[in-house]
Amino acid sequence: MTDRLYYRDSFLYDFDAEVQALPESARPALILDRTAFYPTSGGQVFDTGWISTDNVKLKVTEVADSEDGRVVHYLEAPLKDLRPGTRVHGQIDASRRRDHMQQHSGQHVLSAAFVRLFNMPTVSFHMGDDYCSIDLDIKDLDTPTLSKEQVEQAERLANEIILENRPVDVRFVTRDEAAKLGLRKVPVTERDELRIIDIRDWDLSACGGTHIAQTGQIGCILLRKTERVRQGWRVEFIAGQRAVATARRDFTTLTEAASLFSSHIYDVPQQVRKSLDEIRSQRKQREQSLEELAAAQAAAMLAATPESSGRKLVVRTFADRDMNYLKLLAQKLTRLAPNVVALLATTSPQPSLVFAQSAGQASDMGALMKDAMSKLGGRGGGSKDMAQGGVPNADGIEAALSNVAATLRAQ
Ligand SMILES: [Zn+2]
Repeated sequence: MTDRLYYRDSFLYDFDAEVQALPESARPALILDRTAFYPTSGGQVFDTGWISTDNVKLKVTEVADSEDGRVVHYLEAPLKDLRPGTRVHGQIDASRRRDHMQQHSGQHVLSAAFVRLFNMPTVSFHMGDDYCSIDLDIKDLDTPTLSKEQVEQAERLANEIILENRPVDVRFVTRDEAAKLGLRKVPVTERDELRIIDIRDWDLSACGGTHIAQTGQIGCILLRKTERVRQGWRVEFIAGQRAVATARRDFTTLTEAASLFSSHIYDVPQQVRKSLDEIRSQRKQREQSLEELAAAQAAAMLAATPESSGRKLVVRTFADRDMNYLKLLAQKLTRLAPNVVALLATTSPQPSLVFAQSAGQASDMGALMKDAMSKLGGRGGGSKDMAQGGVPNADGIEAALSNVAATLRAQ
């Protein structure tokens, strides 16, 4: 078993140790007789830092528990000349450790707040690179939900406990003693001795994590997104410098948004709502205008097209219409008169074709489109009266329309 120095002192960032073993592993790995490096467990992620001898200093990239209770340090490169018995110096990345302490102690304070205020126990804790989260069990509650007001209340109470700067003590007790203490969280392990994190008159939890010494060192706690998950409600939070950094990023983002509207940051939602309303009404106006344009254009095209063999064959290639407009125009053309066949195309923005005929006409637009697509290397098809297709480039579109028109005239 490795002697875990962090159990007794979370602020120990430098230590000396002796190499115990160099375990077989895909990555270079090292086991020491004692360590201040925290291995991933209990929701808290591992420390990083450095291990050095007189000659070399190597980065510790990950730390993990082995199955037999030892701590394995993974290194960026193999330590040469290293064997069991070699003396090494370990150094923890202090800013990463401090951040983890703020998040983890923040979690204890917050979890206790949810229990005391709303009887919502924490069933899991996750610490990520960006944010942390706890899952609250709400299945035993009369109203199994978590409101915005409850979130704000828990946040306020947690921050009060932080401001009161309560001492946080680490104690080791037997299972029997622990049973009498009334722990918020009792671990599942079989171990006889339990490590208790005692936030004075606020929270008692069995936990192996690294914690601050006084709640004031958490700094502050900020609750973020909440979402319904299978086992209850997930509450995202951040503490300490992370909370400040996130608030800073939020402010920068909001300021950027506000400057786009030339408004105050608190007016951004109102400005966005106003803009969305404008976009919606303009979209409606545009659709209306396109309908009117298509109707007028269809009427003009039909007037300019002579009837031949009892049919009006309209052939037209546009340079700047989209597929939707072609379809709209085809609809208008084929509904304005009972004997219309329309062969329409556009060369940009997306080279596309639309073939359509008035209901009851004899040709097959779907078949003609399939045939045209196979010649142009595009994809498309449709029904007997309406078909559409898209092609990779505009070359040959006009010739293809002429071909189809010639086929129709010959029928
Ligand atoms: Zn904990």
